[in-house]
Amino acid sequence: MFLSGKRAVITGSTSGIGLAIARALRAEGAEVVLSGFGDADAIAALRAELGATHVDADLSQRSGVEALMAGAGEVDILVNNAGMQHVAPIEEFPVDKWDKIIALNLTAAFDTCRLAVPHMKRAGWGRIIQIASAHSLTASPYKSAYVSAKHGLAGLTKTLALELATANITANCISPGYVWTPLVENQIPDTMKARGMTREQVIHDVMLVRQPTKSFVQPSDIGEMAVFLCRDAANNITGTNISMDGGWTAE
Ligand code: NAD
Repeated sequence: MFLSGKRAVITGSTSGIGLAIARALRAEGAEVVLSGFGDADAIAALRAELGATHVDADLSQRSGVEALMAGAGEVDILVNNAGMQHVAPIEEFPVDKWDKIIALNLTAAFDTCRLAVPHMKRAGWGRIIQIASAHSLTASPYKSAYVSAKHGLAGLTKTLALELATANITANCISPGYVWTPLVENQIPDTMKARGMTREQVIHDVMLVRQPTKSFVQPSDIGEMAVFLCRDAANNITGTNISMDGGWTAE
């Protein structure tokens, strides 16, 4: 259990990819701090399963990010995963959705990094892992806020990799294509509306059409990649954007 003695904060870890990463890091011995929303009983069950703590904070607010990081204490592994999506044409894009997506998907990562790095520097070791997206490298129509935030996250990560290069702290993005999680399921109705499609058409003609493998990425695969990035073998992997997208961005 090579991560024994290391503390990991995974934002948005009550569901989907974040939860899979929390499970994978825990399986290697990391002490896990959960974040994210959800039913109180379900969160209590996750805490028990993972021997974890949970900080209840809205990360679309700077005060929420600060509460998470204060509650978490000294963080060795920071995984910025919390994110949200909204699908609408630019002229109809709700400005409050733009603000919230930029706040949660990008600004929260700036703030967690800002607050986590001092301890990592003192400890002489750290891992920053951003769950970006194929949309950090390419675009799709009707996702202006999400694509902008994810491209920004990729830029932030490259910058941190350079700033922290001699501090034994790596910073990398993992960029999935479509992963079958509640985030993906929830955008189907809006995409049906925006494109005038059926549910099946959205799944096959919008989502998987971009993934040459024609299959959804599994959350647990992303958990395994996060574990790998914590290994010594990954000491010189920094500033990268690792695609796990079934070949999407190879096209
Ligand atoms: P999800 O909706 O299943 O989980 C999102 C998590 O974030 C939940 O724990 C939720 O409670 C938390 N969260 C949402 N708003 C929050 C807020 N304001 N404050 C604190 N926590 C909040 O989503 P997912 O599919 O697991 O996505 C996780 C990340 O992976 C996101 O950043 C997403 O953009 C990225 N991603 C997902 C896919 C995909 O296909 N699912 C593809 C590429 C990238």
